[in-house]
Amino acid sequence: MDAKTCLNKLKLVGVLSFATVDRNGNPQVRCISAIHFDETSFYFFTARGKDFCQELLADGRLQILAYTRFKEMIRLSAKAIPAPAAEQAEKISTIFKEQPYLSNVYPADTRQIGIIFEVNDAEIEYFNLGVKPIFRESYTLGAGRLSTKGYLISDRCIGCGKCQNNCPQRCISAGRPYQIQQEHCLHCGSCYENCPVKAVQKRGEQ
Ligand code: SF4
Ligand code: SF4
Repeated sequence: MDAKTCLNKLKLVGVLSFATVDRNGNPQVRCISAIHFDETSFYFFTARGKDFCQELLADGRLQILAYTRFKEMIRLSAKAIPAPAAEQAEKISTIFKEQPYLSNVYPADTRQIGIIFEVNDAEIEYFNLGVKPIFRESYTLGAGRLSTKGYLISDRCIGCGKCQNNCPQRCISAGRPYQIQQEHCLHCGSCYENCPVKAVQKRGEQ
């Protein structure tokens, strides 16, 4: 798995959930399909009068979520920016050619109320619940950054094995200290709750 394959999977899903933050700090989610994917970036169409557009112009934070029929979750976190003015018309035309239904929604020149946003830098999280053990990995697009999530085991570990016995994915290896196989971890927190000496820590909080 890699970032490019994740973008291809998002393209195959087609209609994606786009989450933004509104002026009151509330989450807002919409289904968006007017998207064009390149190899390492993508852009999408909306109308300038929509709250969605206003939220992107004011804040820009965007999270996209897709779930495939193979139980794969793909989440992309990014900041969306308006595409350069000189590229707007051409990009609108590309999306309307790829998605003919849009000409019914915005016939003829009414599409000029549209605006194109682009995403070049992002973090992508891939999470596959359809394999055993489950598999997760994160990737970046452009200058995107990886966030720190999940759990790790510190040197306070006394090797009692309680975390391993309570791990639903059996993804903790014995050792000093015991080790979590991060690519198979659910982030469920069972190891954290069951460790008698608080050796399991939330990543980013230690
Ligand atoms: S439960 Fe805590 S002390 Fe016991 S093996 Fe796991 S991390 Fe180490
Ligand atoms: S968070 Fe859950 S899945 Fe991950 S290592 Fe701990 S118990 Fe296992």
